[in-house]
Amino acid sequence: MNTHIIHGSDIPETLVSAIEKHLAAEPGILKFTFHCVDDRHLAAGEGIPLQDLFDAGRRFREANSIPNKDFVFTLTEFPNAQNFYASLNPADTRTGFLHAGDWELFIECERELPIAFTIVNMLVGYHTSPYFHQMADFLHHRPIGCANDLCFNKREVIFKLRTGDVCSNCIQAMQRNKWSDLGIDHAIRILSTLSAEMRFNRYFQPVMEPSGIHIDMDNATIILPDYEFLEIPLQPVDLTFYLFYLRYAGEEGLYQIVFEQQWAQDALFMIYKKMRPLTTNDRELRATAKAFADMQVREQARARIKKIFTSILGPRLAKPYMIQGTRGKPTRTEIPLEKVRVVNYQEWEQLPERP
Ligand SMILES: [Zn+2]
Repeated sequence: MNTHIIHGSDIPETLVSAIEKHLAAEPGILKFTFHCVDDRHLAAGEGIPLQDLFDAGRRFREANSIPNKDFVFTLTEFPNAQNFYASLNPADTRTGFLHAGDWELFIECERELPIAFTIVNMLVGYHTSPYFHQMADFLHHRPIGCANDLCFNKREVIFKLRTGDVCSNCIQAMQRNKWSDLGIDHAIRILSTLSAEMRFNRYFQPVMEPSGIHIDMDNATIILPDYEFLEIPLQPVDLTFYLFYLRYAGEEGLYQIVFEQQWAQDALFMIYKKMRPLTTNDRELRATAKAFADMQVREQARARIKKIFTSILGPRLAKPYMIQGTRGKPTRTEIPLEKVRVVNYQEWEQLPERP
C-alpha cells in the first residue's frame, strides 16, 4: 500500500525531504511517495476551496492510474478557505489534504514532525472508519491522547502528538476493517517515533548541555565531568584518533589530506606512544599512526568510537561527541574547544602545531 503525497512548487524541496526522512525512519510495509505536480489549483494561493484540493488529488489519481487501494493526499503551503489543517475527502476517503503552514505558531519543533504525523494519522483515521459519515462516531470527541482524537485545529493536535499513541478500541476497529497487523504496527511505530522526537526537540534538546571533556594523558582516559564523571573506555588506538580530533579539528574540521601529512602522523605517533607506555617498539607505533591515512581505517575507528559513546550515553547525548561529517568532507566533533580540558596540559602543548 502506497501513500502518494502531491504538492505544488509552494512546498520547498527541503521540507519534502525532511518529511520523507521522518516517514522512512521506521522500516515497514507503509510506503510514502512525494510528487511535485503542475496543477493550477495548487498555485492559486490563499483561500483555496477544499474541493479544489480534493480534485487535485483525483486528477493525479486518474492521470497516473493510481490503484484504488493507494492513498493520495495533497499538501499545500497556503491556508485553505476553511483554514482546516487536514481532512479526508468525504466523497472518497482514500483522498485527502493537509496544510503544511503555521505549525510554528503552535509547536516549537520542526514542522516536518507534525506534518509527517498528520499523514500517518490520516491513514489511521481511514482504517478506523473508512466511511466518512461514520467517522464522527469513531473519533474521540473528548481527547484521550489517541491519534483518533477529534481535532479541529493545530493547537488541539499537540496532545496526541505528545502521546503518539493509538487506543485499543481504535486498534480493534482497524483490525475489524481488515487492516493487517503489519500495517497497524508500522503506523503506530511511526507515530510513536515522531512523538518521541517531537518531545525531545521541544523539551529536552533546547536545554541540553553537553558535558565538558577531561583528557588525562597520563592515565589514557577521557572523563565527562558534568555527566557524573563518566569514563569513556576507548582502546588506545581509538583514543589516539579521538584526541587528535579534539586537538586539531577545531571549527573547520579535518580533511583527508591532513592524515597524509607528516606533522599529523608525528602527532598521532606521539599521542599513541603516550597511550601505550609499555610499548617500546616505535616502528609498530609509527605504522599505526601512518595507517590513519587510509580512510577505511579511520571509518572503522569512527564506528568503534560511536559505538562506545552511544552505549554509555545513548544516541542523543552521544551525538555531540561523535566525529561527524561525510566522506570527502571535513570531519569534526560538535564539542566546542573551551569545553575540552587537558589534565597534563604540557604534553598536549608539545604536540606538533597544525600548519
Ligand atoms: Zn482511539
